[in-house]
Amino acid sequence: MPDSLSRVNREVVACDRCPRLREWCSRIAREKVKRFRDHEYWGRPVPGFGDPKARLLVVGLAPAAHGANRTGRVFTGDRSGDFLFAALHRAGFANQAQSTDARDGLRLKDAFVTPIVRCAPPGNKPARDEILGCRDYLAREWALLSPRLRAVLVLGRVGMDGLLAMLRETGQLPPGRLAFGHGVTHDLAPGLRLFCSYHPSQQNTFTGRLTPRSFDAVLRKVARHLRGPNRQGGRTP
Ligand code: SF4
Repeated sequence: MPDSLSRVNREVVACDRCPRLREWCSRIAREKVKRFRDHEYWGRPVPGFGDPKARLLVVGLAPAAHGANRTGRVFTGDRSGDFLFAALHRAGFANQAQSTDARDGLRLKDAFVTPIVRCAPPGNKPARDEILGCRDYLAREWALLSPRLRAVLVLGRVGMDGLLAMLRETGQLPPGRLAFGHGVTHDLAPGLRLFCSYHPSQQNTFTGRLTPRSFDAVLRKVARHLRGPNRQGGRTP
């Protein structure tokens, strides 16, 4: 049977490859946090989300314990998601700025958002074997989305390392170091460009390391690139 995003999503949601992460997510969902004590937590792995015909892939790190692990949608219900989707909305990739829960009406246009690890890790730090164990889902999403992809936006160095490792392991990128830095870009293939940004975690947004203005500047570069010739040399209608 050919693979599909809905099949990947179903398998992600049912996945239990990482006992430490599954136990952690279930515990968080049981114990909750005071401000969300009346919420029913998702507590399961979180699949990617967005437009299946996207030309932009946004790669994050992992669900937040009381964000996506609560709401079941990537970058939803926490400050990082507020920052990210507001910016995607300003750039025209989202129909609204708010991302509060999985039924809030948010739709992405020409963008797909996915994490490299799909279960919330303790301290937001997945172990190496957990990153490796989850990589297959990213590889499958990539295989399904990549014929149309023109831009990849990595949110943070760990997300970038995870994406590049997957591309190298699957023979889609030669070995070699690619530098990470906010606003840095690399051409991965003709017409397919990688854009780097700091992760919109509170650690970065509260300290001013990442601001709406500096994030918008990266998204403007992405939009400019998408307006250029497509991977076959023509213009995308
Ligand atoms: S992190 Fe990924 S591989 Fe590990 S249990 Fe969650 S979905 Fe499965």
